[in-house]
Amino acid sequence: VIELGTPQRSVITTCAYCGVGCSFKAELNGDRLVRMVPYKHGKANRGHSCVKGRFAYGYANHKDRILNPMIRDRIDQPWREVGWDEALTFAARRMRGLQDRYGRNSIGVITSSRSTNEETYLVQKLARAVFRNNNTDTCARVCHSPTGYGLGQAFGTSAGTQDFDSVAHADVVVVIGANPTDGHPVFASRLKKRLRQGARLIVIDPRRIDLVKSPHIRAAHHLPLRPGTNVAVVTAMAHVIVTEGLMDQAFIRERCDWDEFQDYAAFVADPRHSPEATAMLTGVNPDDLRAAARLYATGGNGAIYYGLGVTEHSQGSTTVMGIANLAMLTGNIGRPGVGVNPLRGQNNVQGSCDMGSFPHELPGYRHVKNPDVRAIFEEAWGVPIDPEPGLRIPNMLDAAVEGTFKGLYCQGEDILQSDPDTKHVAAGLAAMECVIVHDLFLNETANYAHVFLPGSTFLEKDGTFTNAERRINRVRRVMAPRNGYADWEVTQLLANAMGAGWTYTHPAQIMDEIAATTPSFAGVDYALLEEKGSVQWPCNEAHPEGTPLMHVDGFVRGRGRFIVTEYVATDERTGPRFPLLLTTGRILSQYNVGAQTRRTENVVWHAEDVLEIHPHDAEVRGVSDGDWVHLASRAGETSLRAVLTDRVSPGVVYTTFHHPDTQANVITTDYSDWATNCPEYKVTAVQVRLSNGP
Ligand code: SF4
Repeated sequence: VIELGTPQRSVITTCAYCGVGCSFKAELNGDRLVRMVPYKHGKANRGHSCVKGRFAYGYANHKDRILNPMIRDRIDQPWREVGWDEALTFAARRMRGLQDRYGRNSIGVITSSRSTNEETYLVQKLARAVFRNNNTDTCARVCHSPTGYGLGQAFGTSAGTQDFDSVAHADVVVVIGANPTDGHPVFASRLKKRLRQGARLIVIDPRRIDLVKSPHIRAAHHLPLRPGTNVAVVTAMAHVIVTEGLMDQAFIRERCDWDEFQDYAAFVADPRHSPEATAMLTGVNPDDLRAAARLYATGGNGAIYYGLGVTEHSQGSTTVMGIANLAMLTGNIGRPGVGVNPLRGQNNVQGSCDMGSFPHELPGYRHVKNPDVRAIFEEAWGVPIDPEPGLRIPNMLDAAVEGTFKGLYCQGEDILQSDPDTKHVAAGLAAMECVIVHDLFLNETANYAHVFLPGSTFLEKDGTFTNAERRINRVRRVMAPRNGYADWEVTQLLANAMGAGWTYTHPAQIMDEIAATTPSFAGVDYALLEEKGSVQWPCNEAHPEGTPLMHVDGFVRGRGRFIVTEYVATDERTGPRFPLLLTTGRILSQYNVGAQTRRTENVVWHAEDVLEIHPHDAEVRGVSDGDWVHLASRAGETSLRAVLTDRVSPGVVYTTFHHPDTQANVITTDYSDWATNCPEYKVTAVQVRLSNGP
């Protein structure tokens, strides 16, 4: 039940859930938040919202919130509530002690894609300027790190090419590995509007998502590929385009590296990449695939939107590059209605990557090995920066198990529930001697923590989030932090407890430092954001108003780069013990592991995770709709209720990952993307058996 009152004032801020980045008016009665009203001047949402942004803010006042710091010497001891000074001194001494005993590289940080840009910037600065190593990673590692790598390689910048408005000019839309209706609802509304106006739709997804066939919308083609075969399907589409002469030769000659194009064209033209030759592998009808490729190449403005069904694979980065190849082949880059558009999962995945959270990149995607870039930050921060890339999250966990990584500061991220192969994550955390969890709730990771620092909600702080269209939106403080400090203040306190001497008094100063050190943000400050409402990076001297469309006159890297995309089968194979393939996704009303949405007083949020299974696969196992089933993989096992549906093909099962009691990531394996270590969440060989319940 949502308690209403008469609003007396309002504060404009940004939704803390998905990468659409909707603007809201938070309406207050005194200090009490009465309601969230979608802001009609918000450029990402234009007055629209979904149920999460509109109603799921109750977690800010949930009884589970931890408001006081806690410490303990060992994880088998009970927590002891202490003041901030004692907790920070305890944490700082432990972390410094670990560095003294085990070396400078024995500790690190993990940032969250839910944190603001300013908070994220400070956390990676904590690692680089205070810990003096590059052991910083972000939860983007487990979702869109292949986007950063793949688009960076092809175009020269690690971001989507278009603004959301662009979809209104699309004639053909390809949705691959994404379910916008559930994952990005407000963007989905804009997409559906364009489809109702007549744009044609191609869906590439193992599951029949609602866009395939819903009232007033019917996809021209649905390619229900076998999980794990994205690269083969995308390359087969390129095969059709090249062998049937459907390329945009003028665009390729003018904008792309010609020699690389010729190598690529020869590669995809090989008959082994034809739709017919790959049909057994992909499970896609070759006639449908041919027709889809022809439509994308010849149907006018072609726009590709993709999600985690592309990135969370052992060849996630390869598929991203394959998608970039398709756009360049057909000249679908650099004008409204086209482009390559990653639908970012969390509210600030884009910003988390932009801010230098990765262990090999300083803010603005510049490699730590580059001495000129290091010099910029060494001057700004007054310390030398280690030129060696640090550890990624999985490397941190491996090193912990091996005994060389000992301490972790984890802000706003529940790696035990979010990351794959839960048993391995638990083993890594258990082997560390100082785990600092900085979060709203005692999450699953906190079971292994020695220090708990209470976090603040998006309603309790100032800052910025950057959405999937590179739009930098203001987050404004609606109420005082219930825990006493905004997250950026806590990071500063921890840094200072370790001797840093930071003196930020407002996130605007942090943004000024970001702008001074990061060319794509050079023109961004809070005054501009107040004036414009929001801006899209790059925003600098060359683009003082920001940049809605990228690569208009040329690619950021100069000439677009065609990259050969050889399909390599994942090591995760079905067999007699595990004959089905599990893939995962979200539902509209829940958000990721549900830490926020499950703590909101609305019955809609409590839908359980279920297992979708095709009636044929259910029948041979004696499973009826609603039965409990035992789901097992090589990594682990869990129990869920079965839902019989032909939304999934025979041989494929599907679940969501919103509830800790389901623990879908107990099932997922530790296979990962070859380039970025993004986990292969979307392909797990499993067995399903009838069971008596959990
Ligand atoms: Fe929030 Fe995304 Fe819903 Fe917009 S679409 S209200 S950003 S969850």
